[in-house]
Amino acid sequence: MSELSVAEPSMSDKVDEHFMQRAFELAQQAESHNEIPVGAVVVYQDKIVGEGFNQSIMLNDPSAHAEMLAIREAGKALNNYRLLNCTLYVTLEPCPMCAGLLIHSRIERIVYASADLKTGAAESVFNLLDNDKLNHKVKIKGKVMNEQCSELISAFFKRRRSEKKANKNSINF
Ligand SMILES: [Zn+2]
Repeated sequence: MSELSVAEPSMSDKVDEHFMQRAFELAQQAESHNEIPVGAVVVYQDKIVGEGFNQSIMLNDPSAHAEMLAIREAGKALNNYRLLNCTLYVTLEPCPMCAGLLIHSRIERIVYASADLKTGAAESVFNLLDNDKLNHKVKIKGKVMNEQCSELISAFFKRRRSEKKANKNSINF
């Protein structure tokens, strides 16, 4: 094979991108509600069994992260509190709370798009998914559709910062 073929995406890369695309659409839904744009799907046997997007503000629920909602839905769909042989696709590296949930769910694998350098608990700040002290390990693949997803988040925060600034400036007594 030529050297060029090394760079060709494999079948599994294409599958991962396909499901990340849906997580990305869910992240856009979060953004349309002014929530931090994160989306997640749970896949079992090549089918989506749970979906979620960040809704903490809307639901007054600090636990309503995309992963949490997708996993709750998947548990109901599979009628099982364990998500054995499932993969979670999420547009941002999970926080410590969601990483803990992933351990409890016994999920097999996660695929995330962008690293979270502030609170990422897959590998960036904490390593909770592949930790010898915990009784379950989750396979990790990062940087799938990274550019698109991190662009969505940074544009969101940029917009929010400028809105805050505009609000401050408009208060003139
Ligand atoms: Zn989380």
